[in-house]
Amino acid sequence: MNRLRALLLLVFVSFGAIALFVSRSDANPETVRLIVPGVWFREGDMDQGHCNNVIIEMKDYLIVVDANFPSGARGAMADAKRLSSKPVKYVFDTHHHGDHLYGNPVWTQAGATTLAFKGVAEELKRLEPARWQAAAKTRADVAELKRDGPEPPKQDINEASYVLNDGSRKVEFHNYGWAHTRGDGFVYLPKEQVLCSGDAVVNGPHNATMDANIGNWPTVLHAVEKLKVKHVLPGHGLPGGRELITGQAEFMTELHKAVKAGIEQGKKVEELQASIQMPASVQTWVAAGSLKTQIKDAYDEITQGKPRGDLAH
Ligand SMILES: [Zn+2]
Repeated sequence: MNRLRALLLLVFVSFGAIALFVSRSDANPETVRLIVPGVWFREGDMDQGHCNNVIIEMKDYLIVVDANFPSGARGAMADAKRLSSKPVKYVFDTHHHGDHLYGNPVWTQAGATTLAFKGVAEELKRLEPARWQAAAKTRADVAELKRDGPEPPKQDINEASYVLNDGSRKVEFHNYGWAHTRGDGFVYLPKEQVLCSGDAVVNGPHNATMDANIGNWPTVLHAVEKLKVKHVLPGHGLPGGRELITGQAEFMTELHKAVKAGIEQGKKVEELQASIQMPASVQTWVAAGSLKTQIKDAYDEITQGKPRGDLAH
């Protein structure tokens, strides 16, 4: 009996140690971790629809990557205050989706300037306020702002690149074209080799393709791969290294290739949804339900001869 007890105790202790290890290294929503000095990654709670945020410390101010939903914005703002007494001066929207931009008014009311590549404002003109109004029906944090639609970024970036450099740190903003959305923006810290990718690179089965250009997505990521990158901080999922960029590019390449091959064989979208298997190398990005939607989006993109986002024109 004593031996059994001892064995059970050992098993419990081992499991406890494993659980502790997993909880430390694995998901930990709504918490902040330091990536390099002065750069923090805030993991968004996907159950609340939140995206990740990145907080970047400059000499006299902070930059926050992504506005998040309003509730996520409040959480990120509280964390930024806890980390530093410097004000948040800029909030960069990586793209137009609600989980990255609907919190804009929360930040601007607190004195920050929101900015994004000009494609973001253009997508808002094309797609809103319908999505905002739908979100307000299901999300209290959106409804509570009592707005008719989202607040566009206060500052548009009209060039493909923009740099903030105050002597303490250089922060580059890049647009490499249309991948996840037409306004996709990357934030890159060249010295620290940190890349904030928005949803153009995610870590896990979090790809949304409704406004995407799936065929062009790998081209964008191959341009990104030319940067020296040690830390990839994605829009959803945990931080990683360069393998996230490579894997995400491969996922989109394989998706597009498989759907195109099926179309050339005269297959219907339902047949492709039932038959396409993604290679083992990209399983990180695969979820059965969303893969069906992604196949449909790729199918529409290819059969209609242009990316799906164009069809609303
Ligand atoms: Zn997102």
